[in-house]
Amino acid sequence: MRNVLVTGGSRGIGLAIARRLAASGDYNVVAVARRESEELAAAAGETQRHLHFRACDLGATETIPAFAKSVRNEFGAIYGLVHNAGIGTDGLLATMHNSEIESLIRLNVLSPIILTKYVARHMMADGAGRIVNISSIVASTGYSGLSVYAASKAALAGFTRSLAREVGRVGITVNAIAPGFIDTELTRSLDEEGRRRIARRSALRHLPEAGDVASMVEYLLGEGGRNITGTVVTVDAGSTA
Ligand code: NDP
Repeated sequence: MRNVLVTGGSRGIGLAIARRLAASGDYNVVAVARRESEELAAAAGETQRHLHFRACDLGATETIPAFAKSVRNEFGAIYGLVHNAGIGTDGLLATMHNSEIESLIRLNVLSPIILTKYVARHMMADGAGRIVNISSIVASTGYSGLSVYAASKAALAGFTRSLAREVGRVGITVNAIAPGFIDTELTRSLDEEGRRRIARRSALRHLPEAGDVASMVEYLLGEGGRNITGTVVTVDAGSTA
């Protein structure tokens, strides 16, 4: 069974990914977040011990090398790395505190880059691996009030494309997924009418769900993803079509 590390796996999109991969029976999943949620604990109970929680504040980037080492020591080679942990901030740039800007960039950009450095090194020695970064459609569409968040997600897309070229020769794939609006804690500030408006403007007239992102992650980690690398796959029910 292959080990997959899913950051931000305690709720929302990350929980859907962790659950889906663990339930497939093909993967042993290590979900990472600051706190274990009740939903994750329940899901771990349902998946015959293929789903584990390990706590780490990924915003404290100096702790990442030791954390990556401890996961490898405990579980063995990591085949899949899904960078999903992320925070958003609603607010115009002019009103944001510098500390908010720095925290966002630290978690959304620095932490995936540093964690990848320590995990991909071993993937290269193992000669196999799949990396999936959760970006966002706002990286390419833009959205007032999300400038710093959009910058962080665009950085992740750029990181994905270049890293794919660096590590492809040893058989590692690196892709990103750009979800559209998905109802989670991150997006609770958008009211019902706002959600309906986005759905109305989407080609498919509805919003995607966390499970749709999980399906794409499963595909990229599986046999179907073996020749897909350096791409950003949009999962947005056609809101940007
Ligand atoms: P949620 O807020 O629901 O979940 C975020 C997850 O990240 C939680 O598990 C949280 O756990 C974890 N997390 C937050 N801070 C840290 C930290 N410092 N260290 C470790 N883990 C942390 O977000 P979503 O599920 O909505 O989003 C997941 C990803 O998808 C994000 O990267 C987001 O930007 C992206 N995305 C989301 C969209 C949406 O519409 N929802 C659209 C496009 C992209 P804990 O707090 O316990 O640490």
